[in-house]
Amino acid sequence: MNHKPNPLDYRLSLIVPVYNEEVAIESFLDAINDKLSSIRSHIDIMFINDGSKDNTKLVIEKMITQDPSISLVNFARNFGKEAAMTAGLDYVQGDAAVIMDVDLQDPPEVILEFVTLWLTGNYDTIYGVRVDRSQDTYTKRLTAGGFYRFFNFLSAETTLPENAGDFRLINRCVIETVKQLPERNRFMKGLLAWSSLRAIGVNFQRPERLVGDTKFNYWKLWNFAMDGITSFTAWPLRVWGFVGFGISLLSFIFLMYIVISALCFGVHTPGYASTISVVLFLGGIQLISLGVIGGYVSRIYTELKHRPIYLVEDIYGNYKSNQQSLD
Ligand code: UDP
Ligand code: MG
Repeated sequence: MNHKPNPLDYRLSLIVPVYNEEVAIESFLDAINDKLSSIRSHIDIMFINDGSKDNTKLVIEKMITQDPSISLVNFARNFGKEAAMTAGLDYVQGDAAVIMDVDLQDPPEVILEFVTLWLTGNYDTIYGVRVDRSQDTYTKRLTAGGFYRFFNFLSAETTLPENAGDFRLINRCVIETVKQLPERNRFMKGLLAWSSLRAIGVNFQRPERLVGDTKFNYWKLWNFAMDGITSFTAWPLRVWGFVGFGISLLSFIFLMYIVISALCFGVHTPGYASTISVVLFLGGIQLISLGVIGGYVSRIYTELKHRPIYLVEDIYGNYKSNQQSLD
């Protein structure tokens, strides 16, 4: 499937998840038409409406009547951005797809660079790398950086490029591979990295959100990070064996010390502070390890239920129905 794309005759599909973005759609489409005018005839745009509660659906439907290259998949409710990207990959028709946000934080002109690299036929994935995260808050930068380093430290076989978001071009080969991955915990950055062998990054400056507000808070990001780690490595489960071994060894040495010093120097009873701190320390360790096991078990439970990743209410626009069935 790794044949070189034809520069004169290719289709590129933009996958754009949207959640309560009625104010952003029009400026997004204007920017696409403007910045990508040289390749606009090759492009179709698929919005995935992730259960918006505002007029996002109506705004896009109106745009479809004016521009047949736009289509829309409506979710029955909010399933999250990972599910929306999954649906995008299930439905798109293009020889390649670009996943991008609607708020113009992923600058459309960078897609020109993506396409040039893709047309060389040497890459499966071309991902955007944010060279400057000064638009993000200090805490966001610190936690994001920490997460990528921790993830890559734990998960040796699938590494995530630092400072790369979901903004990327993937070829048909990667799309088909990701469609075959059945898991319900959709950590897309990991699944996409796992599926593409020949990847390259393109640097870009990430501007501030044009209109509207971010849809992510720290609680969502924390759960997202946990999904990522539990889907790609079992190390957090296995580490407790080593911790337990270390603590047992230390306590055995301490026991020997007490026995020997009692025999040599008589019985000495230490204060209760040291006893309580050891008990609390061990209790804490046990609860953390139980929490980790709980995290994995709950994900096994989700996988076993085998429910669909998303439910589609309706679809608008020109698309041939060759998508996979949802059952
Ligand atoms: N989004 C979505 N479902 C959600 C949350 C967000 O489809 O539950 C979309 C959102 O409409 C936007 C993209 O995902 O197009 C990125 O969201 P946002 O800009 O809020 O994230 P940030 O840039 O702050 O990380
Ligand atoms: Mg954004």
